[in-house]
Amino acid sequence: MNSTALLNNYNRFPVEFVKGDGVYLYDIEGKEYLDFLCGIAVTGLGHNHPAIKAAVTEQINKIWHTSNLFESSLQIKLAEKLSAKSGLDYSFFCNSGTEAVEAAIKFARKFGKGKFHIITALNGFHGRTYGSLSATGQLKLQEGFAPLLPGFTHVPYNDIKEIEKAYNENTIAVMIEPIQGEGGINVPHENYLKEIRDFCNSKNILMILDEVQCGLGRTGKFFAYQHAGIIPDIVTIAKGLANGLPIGAVICSKEISDQIKPGNHGSTFGGNPIAVSAAIKVVNLIDEKLLKEIGSLGSTLVNSLHSLHLNKIKDIRGKGLMIGIEFIEGYQAKNIAGKLIEEGVVVGTSGDTVLRILPPFIISEKEIVKFLSIFRKVVESLPEINNKN
Ligand SMILES: *Cc1c(COP(=O)(O)O)cnc(C)c1O
Repeated sequence: MNSTALLNNYNRFPVEFVKGDGVYLYDIEGKEYLDFLCGIAVTGLGHNHPAIKAAVTEQINKIWHTSNLFESSLQIKLAEKLSAKSGLDYSFFCNSGTEAVEAAIKFARKFGKGKFHIITALNGFHGRTYGSLSATGQLKLQEGFAPLLPGFTHVPYNDIKEIEKAYNENTIAVMIEPIQGEGGINVPHENYLKEIRDFCNSKNILMILDEVQCGLGRTGKFFAYQHAGIIPDIVTIAKGLANGLPIGAVICSKEISDQIKPGNHGSTFGGNPIAVSAAIKVVNLIDEKLLKEIGSLGSTLVNSLHSLHLNKIKDIRGKGLMIGIEFIEGYQAKNIAGKLIEEGVVVGTSGDTVLRILPPFIISEKEIVKFLSIFRKVVESLPEINNKN
């Protein structure tokens, strides 16, 4: 669809969804699509969820916005729930992932009392505004936007020695995604987060985890770091928090919040009543039973993908319902995603050769079977490419 008015900064698939119900999306002609992307890990509980819709509708009928000049018992309620889930102490609310990362960087600098160096990972993704873009270890996203915010070192992911090497007297934090979402669905080895936690403790620096994509149940735990049995000093969340309404949050320890005084940071819209009322419902719905289901659905999906034995696939990886399917060199993930969408299955990509599968938590085996049959058909129809892989 060409437009004379809309800025051309997105590479959009040629389809518009006008209705959603549970795990299905519908285009203008009424064609049904199985949603295995969830608007990039956002609508994990499905579209048009009755309980979330009821909470939002109730709030819309009361009040939409008051600003943070006034008390908010809704924000307090959500913050208390996030403390209980995370093992951390205090929450700050904003409107997006990048804003959560910006706040985390500011809080770390305030805590650092002059120290400001932060170690992040190559191929990481933390957002598009200047702080988070500077933290993002992908040159192609930074190109054309120099000068960036100083103070970041990007190290190869999944190797504690690289973090140790990058450390200096000015270092205040290590900021990492527990699973790299935009960088190819990269899952580090089992001890990586524990090693970072131990290193940060030994140097008395902060461990910041960006769970904007992998948090909120996506991997089968409420927070992905809970697989590793550690607690970071700061965690950022956003995407899945309000099942489609814009919200982000930074959750941090008391040590950090003690350094933040009224006036140090803020947001006009942050923690607005409508998004927060949806988020409270979402946090309640992601209970232990659902988390278990996410884990077992994820295993079923990955095992079934392996059992298709498709020779065009190089690797299948992920945790819970955050799955990457890497194709051998020569195949374009974007093309394959386009074909799957034409066949009625919505998926995304992560890098050039990785398909990104982020199904809703409410799928059943029936939807997995449907996905597999369409996926197999599409992959088998791709031309053979002969290369050394
Ligand atoms: C999507 C994402 C962000 C940025 O979130 P926005 O809401 O798009 O600003 C930051 N970090 C991670 C890990 C993400 O996946």
